[in-house]
Formats: sequence, C-alpha cells, structure tokens
Amino acid sequence: MTEIVRTVADLRARIAGWRAGGEKVALVPTMGALHAGHLSLVDAGLSRGCRVVVSIFVNPTQFGPNEDLAKYPRQEAADVALLAERGAHLAFCPSVGEMYAQGSATRVDVKGLTDCLCGAARPGHFSGMATVVTKLLLQALPDFAMFGEKDWQQLQVVRRLVRDLDIPVDIVGCPTIREADGLALSSRNLRLSAADRAIAPLLNREMRRVAEAVAAGGDAATVLADARARLTGAGFGRIDYLEMRHPETLELAGARPARVFAAAYLGDVRLIDNIPV
Ligand code: AMP
Repeated sequence: MTEIVRTVADLRARIAGWRAGGEKVALVPTMGALHAGHLSLVDAGLSRGCRVVVSIFVNPTQFGPNEDLAKYPRQEAADVALLAERGAHLAFCPSVGEMYAQGSATRVDVKGLTDCLCGAARPGHFSGMATVVTKLLLQALPDFAMFGEKDWQQLQVVRRLVRDLDIPVDIVGCPTIREADGLALSSRNLRLSAADRAIAPLLNREMRRVAEAVAAGGDAATVLADARARLTGAGFGRIDYLEMRHPETLELAGARPARVFAAAYLGDVRLIDNIPV
C-alpha cells in the first residue's frame, strides 16, 4: 500500500521516521497522470534502496495564462494504485493552498539556462517549476531526486539551482521512456485525438533523421529546415523550436556535443522531445 499525505508536516513526520531507522529517501516530483516514464523514476529510487516519495501536484505557477492548467489530466486514485503496484512508499498530494500559503512572494529564477527553448516559448514556466521543485526538495530533504531526461532543460535547471542554492541532494537524470513507435510518454498524450496520435511519432522520427544527417556531416541549418517543413506538411501546428544545442549550456550548437530539441503542437497539445546527436 502506498500511503497518501497532504501536508508538509505529515510528509516530514513520515520521512523523519524513516531517517530515524537509518533509511535513505528518494523524491520523484510529478504532476500526476502517471505512466511508465514516471514509474521508471520510482524504480530508480527503489534500486538505490530508498524509501520512495512521489509528489503529485499540478503546479499552477508553471502554467502560463493561456496554457492547459484547467485541462491537465487529474486522476489521483488511479495514480496511487499504480504507485502501490510499483512499490512506492508514499504519495505526497498537497493542495494548492498547502504549497502556496496566502502572501507567498518568493520565486526561484535560474538565469541564462531558461532564456531559450521552453523558457522562451513559455515565459514564467521555469520560474514556477524551479520554485516548486526547490520547495519540494526543502520539504522532503531527500538523498536523491529523480528527473526524466525527457524534460532535458528542466533537468539542467534543477541541477543548477541545487548547486547554486547548496541543496544537499543528488539529482538523478533518467532515460526517456517511449512508446514502441518512438513517441515519448507524456501525460499530455492522453489529450491527443486518434488522428493526432497517429501523427505524433513523426516528431521523434524527424529528430532522429536530423541527428543522423548531422552526425553524417550534413548542414545543420538545412537539415533542420527540411525537418520543420516535413512536420508542418504532416499536420503539426506551431513548432516552438526544432534546434540543436549544447547538452549542458544549452547554447546553440554547431559542433558536438549536441542534442536535438523540439517542441511542437498537435491541436492544442504541446509535445516535447530531445535526443543526442
Ligand atoms: P511531469 O509529471 O510531466 O511533470 O513529469 C514528472 C517527471 O517525470 C519529470 O522528471 C519528467 O521528466 C519525468 N518524465 C515524464 N515523462 C517521462 C518519460 N517519457 N520518460 C522518463 N521520464 C519522464
């Protein structure tokens, strides 16, 4: 059974009990609508011999005014059942009021890393994410915190804030879990129409094509422009970005090491992905 706690006080009490018994703790921050990607992060905590705490909190401060906060899937009972089956020890499911007390005025801003990619396309997103992740880390004070490489920029931002704020936690990046057709698992995939679901794997396919062409010496600008045109031709809407950047600094990359990053819409569903060159 996976116990549910809803207050920071109860979270701390459970963790203090484990600590008193000499146990280690891993935190897996999520927004719920759990899938195999999230569960792989649970496994990463369990495989380190930790008590695993999964937070489920759809964080309003990381959504822009015209984004999908209201439509974001919420299915706590099903999520907790999945966590129980997987062997997670605790679900932390706070209310918005528990996380943001009246008058909450402090934000965590990671400069530079958040100017590009999703930071440019979603103003305020990373400030909201960095703030809630900092709060969760300080609430739980875990030994490890697990993050998916699927949200690569987020992982870099979290690594930086932990370093800059001297938060004593080991940040673990975990590989992207995909459908058999290459589509990266995402809670937002639930909102794709059947027709859009059929098109969605093209995003990863085009990215792989870019990575292969560039690795083989192709001209990056041309290869990227061709891929954008093919995505639009296949039915993708707005492409926020399809770019090659340095994996850690996220600066635009001409040379290696580099990763291909993409964010594109199908209907009102925004898909993101990234892969190495
Ligand atoms: P979210 O609930 O979308 O905020 O994601 C919570 C955590 O799960 C983040 O660290 C994500 O990077 C990670 N995650 C989401 N999708 C995947 C995936 N397909 N593979 C691996 N990790 C993922």
